[in-house]
Amino acid sequence: MAIRFDGRVAIVTGAGNGLGRAHALGLASRGAKVVVNDFGGARDGTGGSLTPAESVVEEIRKAGGTAMADGADVSKFGQVTAMVERATKEWGSVDLLCANAGILRDKSFGKMDVADFAKVLDVHLVGTFYCCKAVWDGMRERNYGRIVLTTSSSGLFGNFGQANYGAAKAGMVGLMNVLAEEGRKNNVRVNTISPTAATRMTEELLPPQALALMKPEAITPAVEYLLSEDAPTRTIMGAGAGSFAVIKIIETEGV
Ligand code: ADP
Repeated sequence: MAIRFDGRVAIVTGAGNGLGRAHALGLASRGAKVVVNDFGGARDGTGGSLTPAESVVEEIRKAGGTAMADGADVSKFGQVTAMVERATKEWGSVDLLCANAGILRDKSFGKMDVADFAKVLDVHLVGTFYCCKAVWDGMRERNYGRIVLTTSSSGLFGNFGQANYGAAKAGMVGLMNVLAEEGRKNNVRVNTISPTAATRMTEELLPPQALALMKPEAITPAVEYLLSEDAPTRTIMGAGAGSFAVIKIIETEGV
């Protein structure tokens, strides 16, 4: 049976672009009310005044779905809790969380300073902790929650220039392992997905021929499964868009 999310409220972070946008559109098309989170401002040079999150909300509404935009910076706990409070006030609960916001600051380790390391950890790992923390008690009290964390093959195998990103993504797997166990008896299921798709994060790493095959939308069904009623828990899922998944990208000098 097709997956549906009617009556469910979802937060997708980093949903103004790429994977998060595709996931937000997918969840809304299947009946979820979606908080489209992205801290990005209006794009320069487009002449438009909408933020990326607001444009995605427009897309969802045009397709008949329900969504609200939220500009919280996931690395600020106060902003994250305010987002969760807003959603709960408006729609009653937060049932689904897709933690997807992210940045890159690639540099070979010799050139990477403490700020480059801390900033990436702050958005990916600490930000994910904040998002999970903000929805956790509500999910456990209502005996329903589905959380999917976007991780990366970089966190499992490592990529050149990504000591910060790889450490953050490996940390997210560690977080998932514990939350999955601690949430189990309250029907809160937690998984990670390690996607390979063409996004702003991969466009500098992969050749154009590969990118052309790798639409973010192709990852969304895997995310929908991990957020569904029948989701497993404590899974590290890999998902590839196109005819192949890139398992390992490493030796790129020059960062
Ligand atoms: P991907 O599609 O691989 O996730 P993108 O760079 O296309 O990569 O999307 C990541 C999104 O996360 C961007 O739209 C970016 O604005 C957003 N983002 C980055 N940092 C934060 C943050 N601290 N809080 C909220 N959103 C963020």
